[in-house]
Amino acid sequence: MPTVKLDASEISFDCAPGDSMLRSALRHGIGFPYECGVGACGTCKFELLSGAVDSLWAEATGLSERDRKKGRHLGCQAIPLETCSVKVRLDDHCRPEIIPVRRKVAFTGYRDITHDIREFTFVGGDRADFLPGQFALLTLPQVAGDRAYSMANLANDKGEWKFQVRRHPDGSATTLLFDGLAPGQEIFLDAPYGMAYLRTDSSRDIVCISGGSGIAPMLSIAQGKARDERLAEKSLHFFFGGRTPADICGEDILRDLPGYGSKLHYYAAVSDADAAHGWPGPVGLIHELVASKLKEALAAYEFYLAGPPPMIQAVQNLLVSEHKVPSSQIHFDRFF
Ligand SMILES: Cc1cc2nc3c(=O)[nH]c(=O)nc-3n(C[C@H](O)[C@H](O)[C@H](O)COP(=O)(O)OP(=O)(O)OC[C@H]3O[C@@H](n4cnc5c(N)ncnc54)[C@H](O)[C@@H]3O)c2cc1C
Repeated sequence: MPTVKLDASEISFDCAPGDSMLRSALRHGIGFPYECGVGACGTCKFELLSGAVDSLWAEATGLSERDRKKGRHLGCQAIPLETCSVKVRLDDHCRPEIIPVRRKVAFTGYRDITHDIREFTFVGGDRADFLPGQFALLTLPQVAGDRAYSMANLANDKGEWKFQVRRHPDGSATTLLFDGLAPGQEIFLDAPYGMAYLRTDSSRDIVCISGGSGIAPMLSIAQGKARDERLAEKSLHFFFGGRTPADICGEDILRDLPGYGSKLHYYAAVSDADAAHGWPGPVGLIHELVASKLKEALAAYEFYLAGPPPMIQAVQNLLVSEHKVPSSQIHFDRFF
């Protein structure tokens, strides 16, 4: 089993055959830096000082030509072939609260959430263990590379994993999920990953902001908050944006949670004015609604965000630049 030694430290860890450097490090409880886990963001970049690695995805978009020339690799795509010495700056923030495990799960069914979002359920033998807001990496048949999907439910002993996935026209994983999965079909699921999980030690009220399929981890966070005694006194404000009224969803799940209407509030907006006929709510980008709906200064809240990178950037600009919210109070997953 190849060993990875971290330069300028005493730390080393073994990599199981086929396991990436990032996942092996996390399985040993080491805070290897990462964000997306699928080759897109570049956060898990490291420098290979000696040894050899194979790459799962040579063209990964998280690595520039310059990076490649400088001998840099992505931890999430690199498979060590022999003992390696690497230079990487560990990040305590990435040390896993729950060690990720790869297991087989079976597809058991789906339900439609909107015209293009579907909730898929998988069940595996052991406990589904994760924090509200985390994601899993799914290996799907005939799909090159794993895909990240956030859990829409809560940890449970039944081994049940629920994902709300938006169909991408021509997307390889989503086409397989929507059109090619037979009931009972088994896939590999590796989880949990991600740092945008519900903080139970914060004394602040909570704000969740998402668009499209970004709703999945926010639903998990809202359910986690509603069931956690430590957060009973806190309020949660759930903001959800879609392009048209047909994209709006999520309120049905929140309505069934304790505190709905008193400690749990749902706000939705649609962004396409031409498609908003009959829509009784606000029209505009969802983050534009946030400041007008919240009573306190925004720096008084704990924020959770999920959605495409441009949406996360727009919300960060609003929170950090305009409202001086400390970045330690903003937790997000960018859906690359
Ligand atoms: C942290 C995180 C959480 C996410 N959570 C959700 C969620 O809850 N719901 C949801 O709908 N979506 C979520 N996504 C997006 C999801 O992972 C997919 O990107 C999306 O479903 C499109 O996948 P696709 O295969 O259909 O599209 P494609 O366009 O075929 O592929 C999408 C991405 O896969 C990568 N890729 C392409 N080829 C390869 C290859 N050969 N090897 C490795 N990777 C490759 C590329 O980054 C590409 O942009 C999340 C993404 C991230 C990073």
